[in-house]
Amino acid sequence: MQTQILERMESEVRTYSRSFPVVFTKAQGARLTAEDGKQYIDFLAGAGTLNYGHNNPKIKQALLDYLASDGIVHGLDMWTEAKRDYLEALEEVILKPRGLDYKVHLPGPTGTNAVEAAIRLARVATGRHNIISFTNGFHGVTMGALATTGNRKFREATGGIPTQGAAFLPFDGYMGEAVDTLDYFEKLLGDNSSGLDLPAAVIVETVQGEGGINPAGLDWLKRLEKICREHQILLIVDDIQAGCGRTGKFFSFEHAGITPDIVTNSKSLSGYGLPFAHVLMRPELDKWKPGQYNGTFRGFSLAMVTAAAALRTYWSDDKLERDVQRKGRIVAERFQQLADYLGEKGITASERGRGLMRALDVGSGERADKITAEAFQRGLVIETSGHDGQAVKCLCPLTIGDEDLLEALDILEASVKAVF
Ligand SMILES: *Cc1c(COP(=O)(O)O)cnc(C)c1O
Repeated sequence: MQTQILERMESEVRTYSRSFPVVFTKAQGARLTAEDGKQYIDFLAGAGTLNYGHNNPKIKQALLDYLASDGIVHGLDMWTEAKRDYLEALEEVILKPRGLDYKVHLPGPTGTNAVEAAIRLARVATGRHNIISFTNGFHGVTMGALATTGNRKFREATGGIPTQGAAFLPFDGYMGEAVDTLDYFEKLLGDNSSGLDLPAAVIVETVQGEGGINPAGLDWLKRLEKICREHQILLIVDDIQAGCGRTGKFFSFEHAGITPDIVTNSKSLSGYGLPFAHVLMRPELDKWKPGQYNGTFRGFSLAMVTAAAALRTYWSDDKLERDVQRKGRIVAERFQQLADYLGEKGITASERGRGLMRALDVGSGERADKITAEAFQRGLVIETSGHDGQAVKCLCPLTIGDEDLLEALDILEASVKAVF
């Protein structure tokens, strides 16, 4: 495979091509094909961007039809048929059946754009500046979003310019199982001398993705919502990675029965890997003045077309939801077996997650990298996350067939057994 130009011209900032140094040419469903014809099962799936698989035929047809009809591709934030249809699908298929009433802000097309917009809206709507974020949280890398992102690697890349406007609290489980970290938050809020400025908002991932696939307890999330309500703090759920069905419900917060004031979605929102993001907000919070949050690519029509098709195809009934929960149990069981196997070898390992957002934590990044490198040689694209990259994670397409799923889990098992 010819890779010289890629190595010579692309900035050192590149990441995933270091783990998977081949040139990919085609992809379908849960499978990627490299230039030499070798196939890989994709357990990374665009870090949760390809929940419906690569080039999903049902979604692709909607895109092809739209292009063939000379539909509007770029229209700034003007009204288009594609936008109207997307909003209709979102309201009919997702919001109404869940009893949710949200207005929709279409910011720029990336997740970090949505987070920037969400935290600024919280500031505009409350007149306060402080945003509470949690240890191991990941919310993107533009300056505002970065202020709420824990990982030092990203934070150091500002060249010493301090990120501002956020304070970190311990996420659920951070202090060990015996400590409810929200006791600390409540104590700070009730103490005039705690040094905590009354926050505009709390931003939280119900299952931390980049932070290591850490699920917050459902009672912890309920209590977080209650504390926010009591102190008139807005609750933002960053559902960019955990949303769009990844945990077995369309919104990850449905498991906890909570209703955030603001929600961000991106990654799998377009359903096809096209860049797309939205912010959902309670209607009363829509304090934006016209054009106050700007952008040339606000609502990318092609992504709205595929997003509407994905919602109508996969969310009009509960088939996909149930299937994600079923496959999630299969992955959990196999990961637990691997954790037990590693335990017998003297390596402390554990399994965790929700739905098809799962991890096998092997305790160190070095061990996790050995496993994922071996898996890649054997035909499985799988990545790690967490503060030390210690969690081998499953983010496979939700639509993966059972055969591919079981083959991938067999490859992972063989890889673990080959290196330990
Ligand atoms: C990926 C991610 C983001 C950032 O999205 P980008 O499109 O990479 O900017 C924000 N929050 C969460 C939870 C994410 O997983």
